[in-house]
Amino acid sequence: MVLDSAADTTLLLEAAEVPPVLEENTAGRSAFLLTCDHYGRLIPRALGDLGLPAGELTRHIAWDIGIAGVAEQLSNHLGAHLIAQRYSRLVIDCNRPPVAPSSIPRISEATTIPGNEGLAREAVEMRRQTIFDPYHRHIQGVIDARLREGMPTVLVSLHSFTPVYAGIARPWHIGTLYQRDTKLPPLLLRLLRTEADLVVGDNEPYAVSDETDYTIPVHAEARGLMNSGIEIRQDLIEDQAGQKQWADRLARIFTEIEATLRAQQLLPA
Ligand SMILES: [Zn+2]
Repeated sequence: MVLDSAADTTLLLEAAEVPPVLEENTAGRSAFLLTCDHYGRLIPRALGDLGLPAGELTRHIAWDIGIAGVAEQLSNHLGAHLIAQRYSRLVIDCNRPPVAPSSIPRISEATTIPGNEGLAREAVEMRRQTIFDPYHRHIQGVIDARLREGMPTVLVSLHSFTPVYAGIARPWHIGTLYQRDTKLPPLLLRLLRTEADLVVGDNEPYAVSDETDYTIPVHAEARGLMNSGIEIRQDLIEDQAGQKQWADRLARIFTEIEATLRAQQLLPA
């Protein structure tokens, strides 16, 4: 079966269903471009509930709990363009190379995903063409346009992590995630560590790699853009008060980072 790219959306998403890409502050002039791969937990109606009980579809395995509220408010505070993805990572993970086994996970943490078992190549391809490709094409197009306009672009990829994974409690409140950028992550780490109340992870609870990540390696590293991932512990941002507090804190820190990068002539004055 050959999927026509013009028709792909109608194959998996009905007309009334929202597109995968959500944006805020598209005209924002901030140097920071925010992405949020695990923003939402929608499932295309055609895929039902993936064979999972409702309780599983609101857990961390389905999305990054709390990050949507942080991302939107941080975008507003900074005047930064936010590009987010509305569908659950159980449908297709937008931060995994499509060749990775965890792209469409058959097991997440200890939960088997019946709707992801034994998928035909066409079914895999349809999820990719409906959700993964439009999201990443859009990020690429936005970066292309910014670079054409000579607009400074620093990619910040926003995530949240579960406080307990496979029975192990995680001590960090926030972590920076990076691989090849040597400019932004150390600066971000230094400023986060001046916040006396925080336990800060340096490439914890995850590190970025080409095998396990997509957004940072492809959109930032391959294009030579400064970048960092951020992971916030989900129990700190599960309610609106926590989301506001973290958006405020990160806005303050990124404003200081921007000034420092300008002083270091890593961004235009
Ligand atoms: Zn995530």
